[in-house]
Amino acid sequence: MLSNIYDVVIVGAGPIGLATAIGLRKRGIENILVLDQTRAFRPVGQVLDLLPNGLKSLKYLDTHAYEAVKNIALGLLNSLSSHQGENLPKPAPKWSYRNLQGQVIRSISLSFDDWFQEYGEGRVSLAWYDLQTTLRQQLPQEIVKPNHRCINVVDEPENNCVRIECVSDTTVETNPYAHWNENKPENIDTDFQVSVTNQSFRARLVVAADGINSTIRRLLYQDSHYEDYAKPEYSGFAAIFCREIVDVPQELEAEIEAKFLQNSRIVTICHDEVSRNTVGEMEDTRIILFRDRINNKFGYVIHLPIILSALQNKSGNSLLELALQAFAQAGFPDALTRLINLSPPDNMVQRPYYIHRAIITNSENTPIEPTWNLGRVVLVGDAAHGMPPFMAQGANQGLEDALAVVTLIAKIAAENNWNNRQAIAAAFQKYEQLRRPWMAYVQEATLNRHPYSSEHNWQQYGQQIYGRDVEQVMQTLV
Ligand SMILES: Cc1cc2nc3c(=O)[nH]c(=O)nc-3n(C[C@H](O)[C@H](O)[C@H](O)COP(=O)(O)OP(=O)(O)OC[C@H]3O[C@@H](n4cnc5c(N)ncnc54)[C@H](O)[C@@H]3O)c2cc1C
Repeated sequence: MLSNIYDVVIVGAGPIGLATAIGLRKRGIENILVLDQTRAFRPVGQVLDLLPNGLKSLKYLDTHAYEAVKNIALGLLNSLSSHQGENLPKPAPKWSYRNLQGQVIRSISLSFDDWFQEYGEGRVSLAWYDLQTTLRQQLPQEIVKPNHRCINVVDEPENNCVRIECVSDTTVETNPYAHWNENKPENIDTDFQVSVTNQSFRARLVVAADGINSTIRRLLYQDSHYEDYAKPEYSGFAAIFCREIVDVPQELEAEIEAKFLQNSRIVTICHDEVSRNTVGEMEDTRIILFRDRINNKFGYVIHLPIILSALQNKSGNSLLELALQAFAQAGFPDALTRLINLSPPDNMVQRPYYIHRAIITNSENTPIEPTWNLGRVVLVGDAAHGMPPFMAQGANQGLEDALAVVTLIAKIAAENNWNNRQAIAAAFQKYEQLRRPWMAYVQEATLNRHPYSSEHNWQQYGQQIYGRDVEQVMQTLV
């Protein structure tokens, strides 16, 4: 009989893995471990909006973690605004969406309190790394292990557990958002050629929170009829962005300021109606234009539909050309085109967006639901349903997953069902039954921006997604 078996090993110390660990500890399940491939935790990733459904989930996972995240996010906001120079515009209380003529289509409040009033919980923005750090600080240091890249998970029915095999190496340098490496998907482990050490852990349950390029998903689907869904699928959309435009002539700056930004730090410029192709799929090009808080320079993110091959090997000037082509096709106004033209090629970056669809409709119109669990292993967050960030729901939905999985594991623990495979299978089935249809809905809204179109109702979407009582929904699991 093996003695060193963890109750739960969580693979991935991103926001969802850490939130899961925090929620488990809060419910008295302390014999746990979190593994992450990153050599050391350091600032990577972009700014995330945590919206009421995500914050509610975090609050039910653990009030202290919720308070810490909220305080860091609101504190950061305050300190940034107090560091601003006298003559810089104040932070936007609203995020406006303007049409190509500069008229407001809709405005979204950025105030925590406004969202709280409307949906029973607020909204904050913070950097992925700040979220990761704040959540990590809620856990004892020794249970979160960096430099442990999971490469295999092996069922050991004779021991009532699974074995998680990891490699560690000081040369590991990974960006958690890096999309699947198209050129060498099979070589995923070959970075570890120098001074690799192997280590394995045993656990009753494994929560796979290893992001959109999930290794565990790949292992679960290997040699199964889900094999085609192991890798994320290109969503058809990408971002082309420029961190900073340096020299903007005064009169162009004044024109853009007067027409679009109007003293705000950020604005989305798009068509009045979401453009669609003949089969109704979104074909929208839009630009998020912003001014840096510190130096007040312009920067932008363009979201556009584009085939993946058109992006391949594009950087610098060729990426800029692509952005200008998309702008011309979408009929963006001259002032914006002139601004984009000034982008320093070295500041141009591209990011294709990938997705794991919750429900796939095949050529025979049959829905396929790639499993999110097998035996003692369950997928959560981006590993289960990663998607483009257009509706800012990736992490928020992941936090809902974490709450669902934690609720079910707490029940397994309370009923001492760690060795009961049937009870474990039933629990993870419940998780999927609750989460999959919901995720299909959220992904559909994300890919089609339905809530933004005239025939759909933003208010209704807001109430459904942000306003629902997450705690009550989770009660259906127990
Ligand atoms: C540009 C952009 C903007 C976004 N904006 C928002 C937003 O406003 N709101 C929102 O809710 N979401 C947003 N998202 C989505 C959000 O970032 C993700 O949904 C969220 O980070 C997913 O969390 P996760 O913990 O599941 O995965 P990740 O954050 O990807 O973390 C996965 C972790 O697993 C580790 N890992 C990976 N493989 C292994 C392995 N084999 N072994 C061990 N560890 C491993 C990684 O190092 C990483 O730490 C945005 C995404 C992008 C790209």
